[in-house]
Amino acid sequence: MAIPDFEEKMVVGALVVGPFASNCYIVGSRATKEGLIIDPGAEAEAIIQEVTKLGLTIKTIVATHGHIDHVGAVGPIKEATGAIFAMHADDIEIMTGHSRRGSMFSSSWPSPPTPDLRLAEGDAINIGDLHFTVIHTPGHTPGGICLLGDGLIFTGDTLFQSSIGRYDMPGGDGALLVENIQSKLMVLSDDTLVLPGHGPETTIGQERQWNPFLQNII
Ligand SMILES: [Zn+2]
Ligand SMILES: [Zn+2]
Repeated sequence: MAIPDFEEKMVVGALVVGPFASNCYIVGSRATKEGLIIDPGAEAEAIIQEVTKLGLTIKTIVATHGHIDHVGAVGPIKEATGAIFAMHADDIEIMTGHSRRGSMFSSSWPSPPTPDLRLAEGDAINIGDLHFTVIHTPGHTPGGICLLGDGLIFTGDTLFQSSIGRYDMPGGDGALLVENIQSKLMVLSDDTLVLPGHGPETTIGQERQWNPFLQNII
């Protein structure tokens, strides 16, 4: 996937990783060369290669939620980069539960490390001169978050192009998911770039207009 450089001060790299085709994003400051990895679900080596290509020093790894296809490579990447691992506390149980039981996923997935930092609504994540805000959007999972930057938002499995995350798995709540998308994401400006956990990028305006799950007719 190719994402155009969003703005002068930020570089965004994206990889599609693992059997669930999860989007892993690498975001860095052009000025300080410090970076952030969002949702390293699998293929740690490919992610590290991209980090090296971009010339970034990774400070933080953020998981938008605890599903293993978004946290599967946190361990090796944390080891390779020395970055801290941050996620919402309400998904720690889901994360550790998956790796224990195997559940819907293969039991060969490595167990992700305990988060160093527990995120909550309104928390700030600062990477060099880049500033991100945590928006708690439970519904796909209890601890699902979106990460809002300057003109763009990483939505994990909360919001996709023309779709929303599944809510039929443990901890899911469809009404809550739609309510959170409406009240916390659809209030953003139309041209906000949406970088989801799976599938192509979109914008808030495009989803406001076309997303069938947000039209109040279903
Ligand atoms: Zn998920
Ligand atoms: Zn996912």
